[in-house]
Amino acid sequence: MTTLYAAKWVMPVASAPVEDGAVAVEGEVLVGVGAREALLRKFPDAAVNDFGEAVILPGLVNCHTHLELTAMRGFLEREEGDFFAWLRKLTLARLERMTPDDLRVAATWGAVEAARAGITTVGDASDAASASMLALRDAGLRGIVYQESFGPDGKLAREHFEKLREKIQHLREFENERVRVGVSPHAPYTVSAPQLELISEYALTESLSLMMHAAESQAEELLIRHGRGPFAEGFARRDIEWSTPGVSPIRYLQQHGILLTRPLLAHCIRVDAEDLELLGEADARVAHCPKSNAKLGHGRAPFAAFVARGLKVGLGSDSVASNNTCDLLEEARFAALLSRASGDVVTEGRMIGATELLEAATVGGARALGLDERTGVLAPGMQADLTVVSLAGAHQRPAYDPAAALVFASSGRDVRLTLVAGQEVYRDGRLMTVDEERLTARMKELTHKLT
Ligand SMILES: [Zn+2]
Repeated sequence: MTTLYAAKWVMPVASAPVEDGAVAVEGEVLVGVGAREALLRKFPDAAVNDFGEAVILPGLVNCHTHLELTAMRGFLEREEGDFFAWLRKLTLARLERMTPDDLRVAATWGAVEAARAGITTVGDASDAASASMLALRDAGLRGIVYQESFGPDGKLAREHFEKLREKIQHLREFENERVRVGVSPHAPYTVSAPQLELISEYALTESLSLMMHAAESQAEELLIRHGRGPFAEGFARRDIEWSTPGVSPIRYLQQHGILLTRPLLAHCIRVDAEDLELLGEADARVAHCPKSNAKLGHGRAPFAAFVARGLKVGLGSDSVASNNTCDLLEEARFAALLSRASGDVVTEGRMIGATELLEAATVGGARALGLDERTGVLAPGMQADLTVVSLAGAHQRPAYDPAAALVFASSGRDVRLTLVAGQEVYRDGRLMTVDEERLTARMKELTHKLT
């Protein structure tokens, strides 16, 4: 049984846009991508879904989220000026007020939001990875859920590491074809150096993907370069020994084995030329999260420089606690405008363009997660992960160039279809996988509890 999805435009990303195009799907796999007429001739018995004035593109890849924090959208606005206080309020609310079931409800709400915005693949960092894995499975999305590990006190490194190892063994049970587990030493200021080393070694031996937050805030840089600032003061209050590395956060991660794992690093705002060199040599990947970075006042990552160096860079929304939406088209627009407003160029005289942003939002994210053999472009043999975005809105017409129309005039709200491994998970206002009414009722209870 073949299904054809047709539209005014098909943007395979791996190749040039096709006007009056279509894609053919059989089971989980794409079997044809090209001109509509040619595919109709090749698959005369196919069921045809024509979306008209729309673009079919590879499923969007959000390579950095925290789905379990979806209940905290707008919950931390007052703490935003103080990253230390922001993290503290978030951590306490999650630990003290949310049950495992609450975390799963919040994560499922996040997965639903992603599916509605055309996101087919998610890279999620989670303290309760089983909740996120189940949420992705329930919503029908693809993804890697990185179980977080914390522990700034080096004396307890072995103990914290053993806990992580037990968790990972248990989480293997939740894996399926689409959803995998990874590891995440949370950040340089929450995980001690010996613990970073143990986790890197473990990730390499077990072939686990590793992600971590890196070079995000000024507070982090002050701690690592100079041994000062709010994190250093926090360590002193808790009697945690800290010998200041005196190097950049990226160099520090390299010194403790993290770069050997070809990690996915979220943020990378505070990076200099030498750091970029290290990232390139290590084939590290970057999750660029411009909206979260701007909202928390952390600054901006040099996206144009990542692209110019050929780093594997994807887009991440980060949690909605700091964004406040999980909408990759909006993220792409913000990334382009921010880069241009800052005067960055890829090469002399060439600003970041819509095509580069669409690449980052699809195949770039897939590379960042190490899933590019399965998803990220439309090509025969790839998994049938795709997104259909309407271009029929008054806010989008006329749409001369589909890439520009997507990045500069569209948002997740224009998505009409989200297909993962050939399965329709969202179509024209309706989730096909999750009972949204029941979920909405549970979210209301949860919101009440948090306030
Ligand atoms: Zn994050």
